[in-house]
Amino acid sequence: MTSQPYDVAIVGAGFTGLAAAYDMAKKGLKVRVVEADVDAGGLAGTFEFSDGMRIEKFYHHWFNNDLYVPKLVRELGHEDDIVVHPSRNGMYFNGRHWRLTTPLDLLRFTALPFWDRIRLGLMVFRVRGVKDWKQIENLSVREWLEPIVGPNVYRVVWEPLIKSKFSVHAEDINAVWFWKKLVLRGSTRDKTGGEELAYFRGGFGRLAEIMVDAIRAKGGEVSFSTPVTGIRTEGRRIIALETAEGPVEARQFLFTPAFPIIADIFEGKVEADYLASLRRVRYLGNMCLVLRLNRSLSDTYWLNVNDPGFPFVGVIEHTNFDPPENYKGSHIAFLSKYLSVDDPVWNYSEDEYADFALEHLKRMFPDLDRSWIKEYRMWRSPYAQPVTERGYSQYVPGRATPFDNAFISTMAQVYPEDRGTNYAIREALEVSEEMQAKMAARADG
Ligand SMILES: Cc1cc2nc3c(=O)[nH]c(=O)nc-3n(C[C@H](O)[C@H](O)[C@H](O)COP(=O)(O)OP(=O)(O)OC[C@H]3O[C@@H](n4cnc5c(N)ncnc54)[C@H](O)[C@@H]3O)c2cc1C
Repeated sequence: MTSQPYDVAIVGAGFTGLAAAYDMAKKGLKVRVVEADVDAGGLAGTFEFSDGMRIEKFYHHWFNNDLYVPKLVRELGHEDDIVVHPSRNGMYFNGRHWRLTTPLDLLRFTALPFWDRIRLGLMVFRVRGVKDWKQIENLSVREWLEPIVGPNVYRVVWEPLIKSKFSVHAEDINAVWFWKKLVLRGSTRDKTGGEELAYFRGGFGRLAEIMVDAIRAKGGEVSFSTPVTGIRTEGRRIIALETAEGPVEARQFLFTPAFPIIADIFEGKVEADYLASLRRVRYLGNMCLVLRLNRSLSDTYWLNVNDPGFPFVGVIEHTNFDPPENYKGSHIAFLSKYLSVDDPVWNYSEDEYADFALEHLKRMFPDLDRSWIKEYRMWRSPYAQPVTERGYSQYVPGRATPFDNAFISTMAQVYPEDRGTNYAIREALEVSEEMQAKMAARADG
């Protein structure tokens, strides 16, 4: 590895690192991206089944009110690769599948008494009434929502969703997370209350590769399989990243992995209090089973499972969104579980996790037979979901670091929105501006 100094060295080739690198390379800066993994995309990356058929490790789509993604894709000349399809959402409750895409579906949701269905529908107006999210940041989702919708609606509809998403942290998560989700999802609906979602032809990993090509075309460098293990410093400045293949020197540095990874990289070079502030943000891991089937499970894309004891976010049948023709006729379903890395399930092997998942899936789809499964893969990320606890805005670390020439832009800083590739791009553009201004103000960086 060369020790040639770069204008900017960026740790991580996920959507944040790539979008920042592209923006800076476009402005004529000499950038270098250093990625631990074998390819680009981070959490939004893809993998190949045995015959080369490609799909995300963790299901991904965009909402039609995401603005930063289409803008970037247009700039990269790939607008025609954004495909938009209607989404079919449903709920599995009390041994039955319920369609839940439009307000009319809600009225037909007889698992709740009539007045509860009305309360559920009216919730939207209460949600819109919150103008300043800081008012509800010190309340948990339950503390805020249960009085609005009543205990029955909360127990049947919302509690299972919060539990499946936040697992052991379900009672810690602040109300802002939920409020923002509802506000954003409310504005993605069409006149009938239906929703369209967007996807990138060939998958999000393909878009990440297009970004890598664009960075290289502008003179930037991107290296894979190169974990950053530490930093070299001089006073209040970082002078190089430490990697197994040698140091990477630069004038400015941007770190995009999860806070605890950055804390490990900074260990011994910054005050203990600062490290503690990075480690204060808690995360949930995710284990995701990707099933390749020779037949479809249902006609729903996103099936929330509200039966107690079902340990997954839901059943996400990707090919009910992007059709099986694009996957050599296979049907792709994701079974994703958010969990603490202290949970015994976290240590399951791929086959153990598949057995565990299929046992639960068979309760919903009794005809499901092993012969339907052509292949499966399991993916694991220890830092899949930041836990935005009460008062999160008060303790989440900002972009500045104790170093004059180093910044952090990481998924857990996306707030009050939930993390997503669209916001990764937004944050990347903002931090890129900030770093460029800093470099312009100080000729030596
Ligand atoms: C289950 C799941 C479903 C999701 N669904 C959606 C969705 O539908 N739509 C959507 O838009 N978003 C979705 N997201 C969120 C989305 O994936 C993330 O918000 C986004 O990918 C974050 O990008 P990032 O670059 O900030 O972080 P990351 O993707 O985490 O990138 C960080 C990069 O840093 C690298 N790295 C780590 N340590 C080191 C090191 N020491 N040295 C060098 N490199 C290192 C990592 O390998 C990684 O590539 C989902 C996430 C999950 C977990």
